Amino acid sequence: MPCAGRVSFSAMDDLEQLYQDIILDHYKHPRNRTALHDEEVMADEENPVCGDQIRLSARIDEDRVVEVRYDGKGCAISQASASMLTEVLKGKTVSEAAALIQHFIAAMRGEREFDPDFPEDLQALSGVRKFPLRVKCATMSWHGMEKVLQELGAGRS
Ligand code: ZN
Repeated sequence: MPCAGRVSFSAMDDLEQLYQDIILDHYKHPRNRTALHDEEVMADEENPVCGDQIRLSARIDEDRVVEVRYDGKGCAISQASASMLTEVLKGKTVSEAAALIQHFIAAMRGEREFDPDFPEDLQALSGVRKFPLRVKCATMSWHGMEKVLQELGAGRS
């Protein structure tokens, strides 16, 4: 019979394994990833640390984010985070999306708590905070999306 200490240790391993599986699933089966023409690209982010690249495009209708697409290459964290972003923000109002982006970036930097109400897939990125050099991988697409929302907001009359 395993002792209590051993049980909780393996429960933590299971959680990390689950988080890794979620990240790898988004990396291998990216959501809303398409080839973007140069004229469609609304934000172009680069992370020199591991050569990640993310380009984003979005469409807003009636103050709601109805479409988010990305294109990119790089490490699993950067690509998975972009894939998660497209799923999480679709259907949100522009202000909801902007608030979520700010909260996520601050949480990844350790400036705020990681919100337990964040969607499950997003929780998988919480482990990245232990590796400060990789935080940029996880946040670069979110910084890009912030610019996209600003651009779309500025274009509205
Ligand atoms: Zn990276």
